[in-house]
Amino acid sequence: MQDKDNIIDVEDVKEVTVTEETKEKSVEENKKEDDGYEKYCFICRRPESVAGKMIELPNHINVCSDCMQKSFDAMNNGEIDLNRLMNMPGVQVFNMADFENMIPKQQKVKQKKPKEKKEDPVLDIRKIPAPHKIKASLDEYVVGQEYAKKAISVAVYNHYKRVATDTMDDIEIEKSNMLMIGPTGCGKTYLVKTLAKLLDVPLAITDATSLTEAGYIGDDIESVVSKLLAAADNDVERAEQGIIFIDEIDKIAKKKNSSQRDVSGESVQQGMLKLLEGSDVEVPVGANSKNAMVPLTTVNTKNILFICGGAFPDLEDIIKERLNKQASVGFQADLKDKYDAEKNILEKVTVEDLRKFGMIPEFIGRLPIIFTLQGLDEEKLVRILKEPKNAILKQYQKLLALDEVKLEFADEALMAIARKAMKKDTGARGLRSIIEEFMLDIMYEIPKDDNIGQVMITKEYIEGTGGPLISMRGQALIEEK
Ligand code: ADP
Repeated sequence: MQDKDNIIDVEDVKEVTVTEETKEKSVEENKKEDDGYEKYCFICRRPESVAGKMIELPNHINVCSDCMQKSFDAMNNGEIDLNRLMNMPGVQVFNMADFENMIPKQQKVKQKKPKEKKEDPVLDIRKIPAPHKIKASLDEYVVGQEYAKKAISVAVYNHYKRVATDTMDDIEIEKSNMLMIGPTGCGKTYLVKTLAKLLDVPLAITDATSLTEAGYIGDDIESVVSKLLAAADNDVERAEQGIIFIDEIDKIAKKKNSSQRDVSGESVQQGMLKLLEGSDVEVPVGANSKNAMVPLTTVNTKNILFICGGAFPDLEDIIKERLNKQASVGFQADLKDKYDAEKNILEKVTVEDLRKFGMIPEFIGRLPIIFTLQGLDEEKLVRILKEPKNAILKQYQKLLALDEVKLEFADEALMAIARKAMKKDTGARGLRSIIEEFMLDIMYEIPKDDNIGQVMITKEYIEGTGGPLISMRGQALIEEK
């Protein structure tokens, strides 16, 4: 192993004086190529991994080929006239031998550590498992939404199988881009995030409202691809197999009766057509916008899976209207308002309804898989609290277990939390904020007293009419005032 004290910081180089003994040592050290340190250029200070192979000069001074070339060029072009230079007052010309006293022991900087080897993904996209296995993995995280999980599993299976066998160009089968329709907080984003994590593919999430036609204020449409490239650590090959999730897609519906130029609605849909079906996109590497300073690279979107999601607020009315109209025509006419009370009306959505909503036909045509997610009821919210692998309750229980405190929730307390969340009307999104609110006190108070062994969260505590039940180690539960 290398003695760390023998290595001197780049900044300290000038002050270093070296004895014969240490000089020999540094020669030895320089010989070891893979000792975790790399050479850097004496002039521009770039390490070898950036500047390329170093040219070694006497006294362990290294210069990169760029700087060497520049020096030669400068001399050849007469930019440096050595004779004139030497005769100029105040100019000293060094003898290389003089440098002996100030050479660094080690003209090397620490190499970046190679990234740790990642674990194998749960689902391998090169050997994509059957849809039921994909769904089983999703089941561990996403509560309910059975139909959506099934639909997404089949779509992902087909998509990555075609990517692996390179049959994406066959026109017969359409690309598996998806459109998810469901109320806010029902798990649309969560489903996609979980899927990307399980498959270990990069994921970019964008809000359609932030997109505008190229040239207008806002992100242009291709910025979603550069987001994906960033998520893939600028690895183009990985990005080309990633997932792009565009949320709030209903917000770019065509505006009705608008006389102004529609830069954030219909034209964004138009602009996305090429992207959705597959095209080469020039994106900046390591930046969000194209400008002269940023290098560009080309990403092909053919194998990128696009998933769009939205709440489509008034879509239910459009579907109802259509169904009622259909039902009330003809000899076997039904009641005119037969579908008004129907619960899962969204499931009956058709392409025609979406078109009426304001999505252009070419756009919907490029999202062949359309499915809906249901709003979450109280029972589902309770399950979301405790069942998923990374459930919020499990997280708090683990946290308190580190202090050797057992945290429990009464079933009624969970129901009370779910009821509160239902009132907020933001689906499962409200759960975390409600829990965080009252867990703050618990997390603050409990570590004060080492004797506390167990805490039971009660319905009364959630509703603000009582306190949690606390028990000291080896005692029964008592209520905390
Ligand atoms: P949206 O449908 O508006 O995109 P999100 O997916 O962002 O909603 O949901 C918000 C949060 O609620 C998620 O981060 C997740 O923790 C939780 N959640 C929502 N739906 C579910 C579900 N079906 N199963 C488990 N957790 C869920």
